[in-house]
Amino acid sequence: MYLPDFDYHVPETVEQACGLLAELGPDAVVLAGGTDVLHKMKQGKLAPRAVVSLKRLGELREIRYEPGRGVVIGALATQNEIYGSPVLQERYLSVSQAAHQMASNQIRNQGTVGGNIVNAVPSADLPPILITLGAEIRLVGPDGQRQMPLEDFFVEPASSVIRPAEILTEIVIPDQATTGSTYIKLGLRRSGALAVAGAAVAVTVDGGVVRDARIALSSAAPVVLRARRAEDRLRGSRADDAVLAEAGALAAQESRPRDSIRGSAEYRRNLVGVLTRRALKKAIEQGHC
Ligand SMILES: Cc1cc2nc3c(=O)[nH]c(=O)nc-3n(C[C@H](O)[C@H](O)[C@H](O)COP(=O)(O)OP(=O)(O)OC[C@H]3O[C@@H](n4cnc5c(N)ncnc54)[C@H](O)[C@@H]3O)c2cc1C
Repeated sequence: MYLPDFDYHVPETVEQACGLLAELGPDAVVLAGGTDVLHKMKQGKLAPRAVVSLKRLGELREIRYEPGRGVVIGALATQNEIYGSPVLQERYLSVSQAAHQMASNQIRNQGTVGGNIVNAVPSADLPPILITLGAEIRLVGPDGQRQMPLEDFFVEPASSVIRPAEILTEIVIPDQATTGSTYIKLGLRRSGALAVAGAAVAVTVDGGVVRDARIALSSAAPVVLRARRAEDRLRGSRADDAVLAEAGALAAQESRPRDSIRGSAEYRRNLVGVLTRRALKKAIEQGHC
């Protein structure tokens, strides 16, 4: 369980970090909170020649509201900073609460939202709620920067469209008309457990009718899954229990979970249906994001 030898770099700016990564090539790894990287290095699953720590890039830790742009979350914001952020608690409590459902307090003090996204595992808890809220991400690399919907970032388990030497710098949740959102997950323990399955929803309800709905599922497919048939069933319908149950059933049908030590595919599919229905009901009844 000892760490292997490596060169350690601590750049002071994003540009320096990207330059270093470009220079060092594929033998270098980015380190944010290290809850995943250091674990893999100790297990011998990862043996980089160089580690590029982002810890001095303090500006990537901020969580702020920019009028006309939305809530900007720096990629280095930890799960506990997301949980405790007054900006998120006021505007998107669902995001704070999703962060609070993750891991243990020690891991939440270290683990960052950027690491949770770039890891690209289907059990990650923050991408689903951010996707339902239409989040965009910014990536900066040696050739400049680009922005894209978070939803388009994931390719397959542990694989994304991030390019060599690129750094995820921020996540932006745009202003929106959404009236309610939430994320519900079930783990094998009450805390410190990855999702057996999870459902994030964001709904816009007006006069008891669902005008818009977005549903994203964790641990339900090789990547975070949008349950589009369930969303279609909801749009234009009254938000009653029968409709929510139908939407849950459709989300279960759309899911493609696998058997794993955390649960069989069949159990997870059933769970997706239950969690989606419950999340929809909660988001509609609580009437805030
Ligand atoms: C005990 C334990 C419990 C856990 N429980 C949960 C849980 O309940 N839910 C959950 O979703 N996850 C959980 N995790 C996984 C992990 O803690 C989170 O995914 C965490 O958010 C990862 O962030 P990090 O900053 O520690 O990433 P790191 O380990 O630093 O990095 C992870 C990956 O992302 C890359 N990376 C990180 N930041 C950037 C960036 N800004 N730009 C480019 N690349 C970057 C790294 O190179 C690496 O490939 C758990 C982990 C442990 C060890």
